[in-house]
Amino acid sequence: MLTLSEETAGALGLQTGARAAAWSATGRLLRRVAPLFLRCQPQDLGLASEIKSSHFERPALFLYDRVQGGVGLTDLLYQGWREVAEAALAVVHGCACAQGCPACVGPIEECGPDGKRLVGDVLEHLLGTGVFEPADPEEGLPGPQPEAAEAAPEGAAEA
Ligand SMILES: [Zn+2]
Repeated sequence: MLTLSEETAGALGLQTGARAAAWSATGRLLRRVAPLFLRCQPQDLGLASEIKSSHFERPALFLYDRVQGGVGLTDLLYQGWREVAEAALAVVHGCACAQGCPACVGPIEECGPDGKRLVGDVLEHLLGTGVFEPADPEEGLPGPQPEAAEAAPEGAAEA
């Protein structure tokens, strides 16, 4: 679970309109990059993002283990989240697009016209002031289960 201080969120203007989209875009990018470090499958990692967590009163991203029984992915993430965030930032900076594209922060329709710059800012602030706390696996996700968490059971029953 990665949270941003309310102060930083305010400074970035994240709580307003389209900019909130940059927060979830940051989450999606982190989720995409993280499996490289965790050596897991992308679908092993669940993501929920809240621009203003009802529990923490500030923006929160929840990256969690979707493997049945858990295989310690959140512990690994806790230890290595900075590497993951740095890698995500490198993706943003390394992409040749101007405003964001599916190869980096996502299509403009999803992350907003200013999404690429905002996601870069958010990642830089996360690296500077963000706090990653391991969520308590006994408690699960705080607050109501965000619908996105359970939304993609694609292929779950296959094989
Ligand atoms: Zn791009």
